[in-house]
Amino acid sequence: MIKNDIYEITIDDIGNDGEGIGHVPDRQNGKNFAVFVKDTVIGDRARIRIVKAKKTYAYGRLEELIEPSPYRAEAVCGKARSCGGCSLMHMSYEKQLEYKWNKVKSCLEKIGGISDAGAIMEPVCGMEAPYFYRNKMQLPVGRDRDGNIVIGFYAGRTHSIINLEKCYIGHEVNDYIIKHVRKWLENADDWNIVYNEENHTGLVRHILTRVGFATCELMVCLVINGDNLPDEYEKPFVGAVCTAVQEYNDTQEKQVKLTSVCINVNKEKTNKILGDKCATLYGKDYIEDYIGDILFRISPLSFYQVNPVQTKAIYDKAIEYASLKGSETVWDMYCGIGTISLSLAKKAKKVYGVEVVSAAIRDAKENARINNIKNAEFFCGKAEEVVPKFYQRADADEGKHPDVVVVDPPRKGCDVVLLDTIASMSPDRLVYVSCDPATLARDVKILSEMGYKLMKAAVFDAFCQSGHVETVGVLSNKKTVE
Ligand code: SAH
Repeated sequence: MIKNDIYEITIDDIGNDGEGIGHVPDRQNGKNFAVFVKDTVIGDRARIRIVKAKKTYAYGRLEELIEPSPYRAEAVCGKARSCGGCSLMHMSYEKQLEYKWNKVKSCLEKIGGISDAGAIMEPVCGMEAPYFYRNKMQLPVGRDRDGNIVIGFYAGRTHSIINLEKCYIGHEVNDYIIKHVRKWLENADDWNIVYNEENHTGLVRHILTRVGFATCELMVCLVINGDNLPDEYEKPFVGAVCTAVQEYNDTQEKQVKLTSVCINVNKEKTNKILGDKCATLYGKDYIEDYIGDILFRISPLSFYQVNPVQTKAIYDKAIEYASLKGSETVWDMYCGIGTISLSLAKKAKKVYGVEVVSAAIRDAKENARINNIKNAEFFCGKAEEVVPKFYQRADADEGKHPDVVVVDPPRKGCDVVLLDTIASMSPDRLVYVSCDPATLARDVKILSEMGYKLMKAAVFDAFCQSGHVETVGVLSNKKTVE
């Protein structure tokens, strides 16, 4: 395969960034070459030009759409093509759901070594209204080539910022916040008020917003490359946020409550969005939200699931798979602010949670207290360090041999040391909540070698319009099953 070769291909898969994938037999050995083509959809018949050829795959450019896919849909957002946030928006929602279910199935089969994964998978759980569902936005701030201030999303695979006026997946109050914060930054008349990633100068890097969908509480956090927001900027910034909220509320029956305005200090030259230090400028240090009937306190640095409607469905599935009667001991690994732990605590004898972010553990303990839940204990640290240490403690109690373990790791999946310790703890069931089916499948394979068998899996569309997918699986101890 050579640069500038032209092929006619049918798109039959989607890559991680939402680009279409077609296959072409190689000239020399006839082997199938995967070609990644941006702006194509599963089912498209297209003429493409190879722009970059690697050993086993290539990148192509769409030259001509010969026959558009029946699954193409008009994206509601005019910026969907350039913006990296909604890479599947140009596909019908039904097809998006089918694609996600198939993606999980294929990972479980190819990476997880399960022969017919479809047989143990439940139907995909999509949303009735897959828009305006996100409770959190992290909006980069910068300048475009002409020096204009831009706030929005990164374009796919780059760090150039797509300026947003309206976002179709975030809470609509964000449109007003973007507008008024942009106005404040423009009026400040200071070139260095916004951050420049290339030379690591300038002040404002990101705007982080969070809305508790059940409580309507709003947090706005300004991430800055500096120790504090200079006095002359503090009032205009808080003022801009207040104006935005007022303007939004004037158009709505369901009003949002501005509960917290804060800054986060991030002076590092890094892709990480948040630094370790926060300071509150207005209101409280946190917002609160309900999942089901449990109230959660959420600090800016704590993780909180972004899609509240699907979160409830995901946690309900985790609870169903945990199959608790009330006498069980449970571990919740990667527990965040204790959302799953506290949901389980009501149905178990004792729950242990472990999480690496100290602010999240503070929230988790506080959340147990405000909900009057007394049978949950939390540990701060890396799960792969805390849990083995706990397991080796001579005086460790029943937590050494839990009935159920829940894991909900970040995309990279579980550390193998943790999986090893879990296998030694020998729970009857292991509930795996995953935001990356590839690492889920890898860990399922490892666990199968340690005596655990995947019994069921359910797929949830928690990140509608994007290529991401959430899965909940339950593994049983082969000793108990067979
Ligand atoms: N179960 C929670 C959080 C899931 S997100 C919820 O549903 O809200 C994954 C969490 O794992 C994050 O809170 C992250 O801070 C935490 N984390 C990441 N690496 C970790 C590690 N090595 N040990 C423990 N926690 C970790």
